Amino acid sequence: MSNPLLESLPLPAFSRIEPSHVRPAIEQLIEENREAIRQRLEQGGPYTWANLVEPLETVDDRLNRAWSPVSHLNAVMNSDALRDAYNGCLPLLSEYATEVGQNDALFAAYREIAESKEFHSLESAQKRIIENALRDFRLSGVDLPPEKKERFKFIAQELSRLTSQFQDNVLDATQGWHRAIEDEALLKGIPETARAMAQETAKAMGLAGWVFNLEFPSYIAVMTHAEDRGLREAFYTAYATRASDQGPTQGQWDNTEIMEQILALRHEEAGLLGFSNFAELSLATKMAPSADAVEAFLTDLADRSLPSARQDLETLQAFAREELGIPDPQAWDLTYASEKLRQAHYSLSQEELRPYFPAPRVLQGLFNILERLYGVTVHEIKGIETWHPDARYFEIRDAEGVRGAFFLDLFARPKKRGGAWMDECSTRRRLGSQIQLPVAYLTCNFTPPVGDQPALLRHDEVETLFHEFGHGLQHMLTRVDHLGVSGIHGVEWDAVELPSQFMENFCWNPEALGLMSGHFETGEPLPESLLSKMLAARNFQSGMQMLRQVEFALFDFRMHRAYEPSQGGRIYEILAEVRERVAVVKPPAFNRFPHSFSHIFAGGYAAGYYSYKWAEVLSSDAYSLFEERGVFDPKTGQSFLEEILEKGGSAGAMELFVAFRGREPSIEPLLRHSGLLKAA
Ligand code: ZN
Repeated sequence: MSNPLLESLPLPAFSRIEPSHVRPAIEQLIEENREAIRQRLEQGGPYTWANLVEPLETVDDRLNRAWSPVSHLNAVMNSDALRDAYNGCLPLLSEYATEVGQNDALFAAYREIAESKEFHSLESAQKRIIENALRDFRLSGVDLPPEKKERFKFIAQELSRLTSQFQDNVLDATQGWHRAIEDEALLKGIPETARAMAQETAKAMGLAGWVFNLEFPSYIAVMTHAEDRGLREAFYTAYATRASDQGPTQGQWDNTEIMEQILALRHEEAGLLGFSNFAELSLATKMAPSADAVEAFLTDLADRSLPSARQDLETLQAFAREELGIPDPQAWDLTYASEKLRQAHYSLSQEELRPYFPAPRVLQGLFNILERLYGVTVHEIKGIETWHPDARYFEIRDAEGVRGAFFLDLFARPKKRGGAWMDECSTRRRLGSQIQLPVAYLTCNFTPPVGDQPALLRHDEVETLFHEFGHGLQHMLTRVDHLGVSGIHGVEWDAVELPSQFMENFCWNPEALGLMSGHFETGEPLPESLLSKMLAARNFQSGMQMLRQVEFALFDFRMHRAYEPSQGGRIYEILAEVRERVAVVKPPAFNRFPHSFSHIFAGGYAAGYYSYKWAEVLSSDAYSLFEERGVFDPKTGQSFLEEILEKGGSAGAMELFVAFRGREPSIEPLLRHSGLLKAA
């Protein structure tokens, strides 16, 4: 039987991949990799880059490239069969990874290279790969006695199973609740785009009227615009209790026990490796110098934001009482009241902007900006096989040829995981005289197009697109030839959001906005009056927004840092303490947001959610150089391309930042961009 996952194709054969291919392919590749490693070690030394590291990268890459489309399809075209196949492979992959990480002979072989004469003649990227590898062997428990090695392996497998189950529960809970509405009066306030979308959803379900659900574009339309308070309360309650012991689907996909198990196992894993808690382990591969430094950074940001956040909230509550006739504003009133307040203060509604951001125009503008900044052009290639009619394929080219490529899948739909992300399809590396092309998956969940109209994006959706593109650029424009530090590989996690958040800045620059906006019917540019209102409203409630991110970050970090096996996770207790310290908005007691906090329970952000703010210091400061020299200054763009995007993980993030900025990072631009710096 031919198995598309075992064919060496430049791009995955999406249409031929069946769930039944997954396990046999992964089993076979893991077995071949094991055999390759065994044979190599049997031959013995002397070990060199060419006879050890390179062949290992090759077998690693082959496995990654087979697994990548499986993991991607599981996220964007989920089905029971695929989910089973995916989950069935997790323990195999985890076992294999730990086994390699704990292989003493392999560890010794790497050490031999690190101590050899050859090491000094290697490129700095190669040296870094070897240094990272030695660190990662230790972090996989290579130094542990056999019974502890076994325990470590078991924990790694359990964690991979539990985090996947957490994610499955969130997806099921998100798709497991909707509200069918037949009485149009209930829709009062909800804009036409969202109504049309809800009508299509109803039609697809064979229902009359409108169906709103918990997919983000639908949910946020209700929360922002629905005048019916009961409707907002119902949606808030359903959303904020997903996958928990509360709310309309309580207990059905409950993550409570899974979260406890994840925290306990992470703590034990950290202990095995000699760390006092998981936060310390998390920092072993990050830029931040210490746990105290992370907490000090976050509380400092909180203190700087608290005065304006308190004022934001007071203003909002007074407005809700006096202008909207809501005597006791609740959690489900805040988004709605904020939108009304924005309209009153800046006479600007988010919906007014939407017609000026049709998706095709935004993409064209983005591509144009990339050309001006980095001298690359983007070309759509038709006829490439994808997984869904929404998905498209593009190449990025420069004067020398194709530098990278990406699949773009923009719109929300059933069976697709929420949020936005960049993932790797293949990664750049040198294969003899050839270069393996880096290919990215860029995935978003934007408001889909309705009828014949193009998709009209909210401005924050435009920002999200630019964000994910920033990640994609670091992956696709890398010049590093070695897998281990090519693209985002080897970049300290708390610096990974530098290119992504950097790109967001262009969504607030008038000249860049001119390139990415234009009325979907008339092509008319964003009118000056709307533009200036939009810019004036940029820092609307920025104190509150900053605190929200700090609250998430500090909660994540302290929960992992303060874990005590005798007391369990104390998840909501720690959350309450953190809120006491840094929050102005106190959600209702039934709120269970941690139960769907996939970033930290299922993604790579555990004890690392602070990375967003940490890296935003870097991204804001990097952008400030463009503010000084001209936002489209080609020399500055070239330097950002060469020092940051192209070098990726081949050197330390601080070293690369200093090379670009000419000094260490300053927090001032972040505060200024967030409106938290009092004007002198
Ligand atoms: Zn990001």
